[in-house]
Amino acid sequence: MDTLTDLLREAAVVVGFTGAGVSTESGIPDFRSPGGVWTRYDPRSFELDRYVADASVRRESWQMRREFFATSVAPNPAHRAFAALEGAGRSPGVITQNIDGLHQEAGSRRVVELHGTAREVMCLGERPVGAPDGCGWRSPYTWAFERLDAGEDDPRCPRCGGLVKSATVSFGQQLFPGVVEEAVGLVERADLLVVAGSSLQVYPAAALPLHALDHGARLVIVNDEETPFDDVADLVVRGRAGEVLGPAVTAALS
Ligand code: NAD
Repeated sequence: MDTLTDLLREAAVVVGFTGAGVSTESGIPDFRSPGGVWTRYDPRSFELDRYVADASVRRESWQMRREFFATSVAPNPAHRAFAALEGAGRSPGVITQNIDGLHQEAGSRRVVELHGTAREVMCLGERPVGAPDGCGWRSPYTWAFERLDAGEDDPRCPRCGGLVKSATVSFGQQLFPGVVEEAVGLVERADLLVVAGSSLQVYPAAALPLHALDHGARLVIVNDEETPFDDVADLVVRGRAGEVLGPAVTAALS
């Protein structure tokens, strides 16, 4: 913890890079841990092709979204730590693989959401081909729940009649235009990249730590299990993201 605090103090530009593990302390399960999403849903339900082809997959997906939003969740000390760094002028922002919006709720202003957001739904268009290329219509997720409550089990875009999906990136769906470039731009500005709560198994996101090292940044990994990048990190802290980052950032900014 002392080394982490020192690294945070010494760095002029700290960039965060977070995964599902940063939100487990807020009560949102990650994908791979026991009790995680993979143990309860078929991973193939997250494939864009199946979503497009099969109304029953869309119904299961809306059911999963309802489950996701059924319990109220709040940011934890890990989210607040990244917001505090930005608020103190020590960080230009945080890159996240998460879709839960908790970084914004904690006060982070610049959040690069690599995999989109579950807080909105979007039009996929009439003949989706892998890119998020619908008619451009988007709405808060509550729109879809209202349609489902009204008896529609497969809500359609009110503007063009196309399929509607959570504004998250499914397997087989391209990332939203510009997000990787924005994430890379942030990483290249970093003196210190703090990775928290990611198994670092999903590409291209997992390439960012190596890119940071190539650009001369230091790398810290805070995770409760091993990651494939532990050997190249300047510091690995094995623990819970909120319990580690909360006090370390408070100490570094005091
Ligand atoms: P992951 O599930 O692959 O890895 C999470 C990692 O965090 C694991 O190594 C786990 O051991 C660790 N972890 C869990 N709780 C922790 C804690 N409190 N402190 C420290 N480490 C902890 O998740 P990933 O790397 O983000 O990649 C998988 C995909 O999961 C991403 O695309 C993401 O969009 C998606 N996802 C997001 C959410 C969310 O938005 N909250 C939830 C589930 C999955």
